[in-house]
Amino acid sequence: MNTLGVPTLLGIPFDAYSSYLRGAAEAPAKIRQALRCEASNRWTETHLDLGVTGVYGDAGDLALAEKDAFAAIEAGVDALLAQEKRPVSLGGDHSITYPILRAFARQRGELTIFHFDAHPDLYDEFEGNRLSHACPLARIMESGLAKQLVQVGIRTMNLHQRQQAQRFGVEVVEMRGLPADAKLKSAGPVYITFDMDVLDPAFAPGVSHREPGGMSVREAIAHLHAIEGEIVGADLVEYNPVQDVAGVTATVAGKIVKEILGKMITG
Ligand code: MN
Ligand code: MN
Repeated sequence: MNTLGVPTLLGIPFDAYSSYLRGAAEAPAKIRQALRCEASNRWTETHLDLGVTGVYGDAGDLALAEKDAFAAIEAGVDALLAQEKRPVSLGGDHSITYPILRAFARQRGELTIFHFDAHPDLYDEFEGNRLSHACPLARIMESGLAKQLVQVGIRTMNLHQRQQAQRFGVEVVEMRGLPADAKLKSAGPVYITFDMDVLDPAFAPGVSHREPGGMSVREAIAHLHAIEGEIVGADLVEYNPVQDVAGVTATVAGKIVKEILGKMITG
């Protein structure tokens, strides 16, 4: 068990920078519901009982207007970090990871990011928006908010983003190159950003950009369990309830959050 601070959920209902479909703002409440669903017990696969009071916390949802949302996200995460909590943010589209990391970099420094995604999210700009959910990792790397970025599950690499990856020294493990377990080790603090579309749409249809050929739920959990390093925070983004089928993706999102929490606590 480690003593890095209580992992604390923070809902970030923001989807204004999703380029193709809105809907991810409705996700936080549904993920919480799935996490606490009576269909399963509270134990993680790493043998931790999340039912014990105080094992993890919940700071509720941020109240966000489209205007100044990023400043509010940064301030919300900042406040939790100042209380020595470990924020586990529930998105929202993937654009939110940039303001989250601005707060983290200031208070935790020298981060390694393990990024699960079908997409590299390294566009310099997308459809004229530099804050688009297609751009967060470009903003993070060019601002020096992380010292290392490892991407896993990528299967939509194009020339521009390959050049961006090279420019920023990003370590990319494409889907066809899995398993990536050996790359998920860090001596320093680790931040996990988990985009639900890293999963195959057969397992998780409730995403804005369904990209076939992705991870099974088991592969994703195995990679999360393989992480070595002190996990100081995480986010799970891009669950889009509008696209879901019978709530299956909510259940998967709840399970992934559960295993991330377990991993953060059991190490
Ligand atoms: Mn993404
Ligand atoms: Mn994605």
